[in-house]
Amino acid sequence: MFSKRAQELATSPTIAIDVKAKAFKQQGIPVINLSVGEPNFQTPENIKEAAIQAIKKGFTLYTAPEGILELRKAIAEKFEKDNKLTYDPSQIIVGVGAKEISYLAFQVLCDKGDEVIIPVPAWNTFVEQVKLAEGTPVLIDLKPPFKITASDITKAITAKTKIILLNSPSNPTGAMIDQEELKKIADIAVEKHIFIIADEIYEKLVYTQKHVSIASFNEKIKELTITINGASKAYAMTGWRVGYAAGPKEIIDKMKALQSQLVAHTSSISQMAVVEALTGDQSSIETMREAFAKRRLFCMEELDKLSELEYTKPEGAFYFYISVKKLLGGKYKTSSEWAEALLEKEKVAVVPGEAFFYPGYIRMSYAASDEDLKEALKRIKKFIQK
Ligand code: PMP
Repeated sequence: MFSKRAQELATSPTIAIDVKAKAFKQQGIPVINLSVGEPNFQTPENIKEAAIQAIKKGFTLYTAPEGILELRKAIAEKFEKDNKLTYDPSQIIVGVGAKEISYLAFQVLCDKGDEVIIPVPAWNTFVEQVKLAEGTPVLIDLKPPFKITASDITKAITAKTKIILLNSPSNPTGAMIDQEELKKIADIAVEKHIFIIADEIYEKLVYTQKHVSIASFNEKIKELTITINGASKAYAMTGWRVGYAAGPKEIIDKMKALQSQLVAHTSSISQMAVVEALTGDQSSIETMREAFAKRRLFCMEELDKLSELEYTKPEGAFYFYISVKKLLGGKYKTSSEWAEALLEKEKVAVVPGEAFFYPGYIRMSYAASDEDLKEALKRIKKFIQK
């Protein structure tokens, strides 16, 4: 009955675990959910208020598929200010989360057989979206500390390479690409005329170095890059579903055409909320970043006490990618079994490395309250030492 495409399609494993953990919670089971990539903060009040005003003023009808001009202007200013990137609002598209935006990008750029280089561990959505676009994901296995280098990329390039996917800071490892390597990758992409899709959604959550946009190095790389970002992580707005991209006008125009046939646009109310997010008080970003920075240090201290676990210090985002290899081979053969048992027995939800095409590891989010993190690490210790 199903198309080949549908047969091959996998449900997002991170969402599947989140659903399971939330179901436990509904049954009154005290599960600690460190599986999902969601800030445990509320959307700031000024942003909520802007949405309420949008509803009250009747801003509740269709908008242009690419998003309202006011929002695209605010995004252009953000790129200018934060990323040293100058775009005209016509080079910007707003969509239903960064997730839909990357889907559009792969759909308009990939033909059957086109290769897309994806360094792994990687967010599984990238791989599924490339397959949905009939492209061929070419996975490069990074070694800890999972930092992408230009030489990793060079080795994977073939005559069929169409796109290089970069996600710095990375989900799931928190690793960032160092600036010199990023510059070299840009030079390679320009020389070989390969497109870059740069998912920069975690740019504000960095702890060791400043984030740099690959498109900002020069005009040539800018002409090949689609920079993706969104409101979900920076402003704790995951449920509002607003992501955006900037890039060469002809590519953005095609993405707009596809979006107009797919979802029309994201919610008019959410768009007004993000205008406020981008142009209003920005202090909540730093408040959240500082809270994440503290939790990151706390988790490192606790994880250092558990010699069975190995990890590399995340530089950004809000995840630890932890090796459980020393604990496999006995009762649990795979990281997937290990993570499942941790959820069943100790009620702590984490995502196994299988979900990121890099088994033997688990991804633990620290976008959780201090008490939950403390308790989760206690339970993990108990689970390991049982
Ligand atoms: N890109 C990356 C790397 C992510 O980790 C996520 C969220 N898990 C997204 C995009 C999706 O963000 P959005 O809510 O804007 O769709």
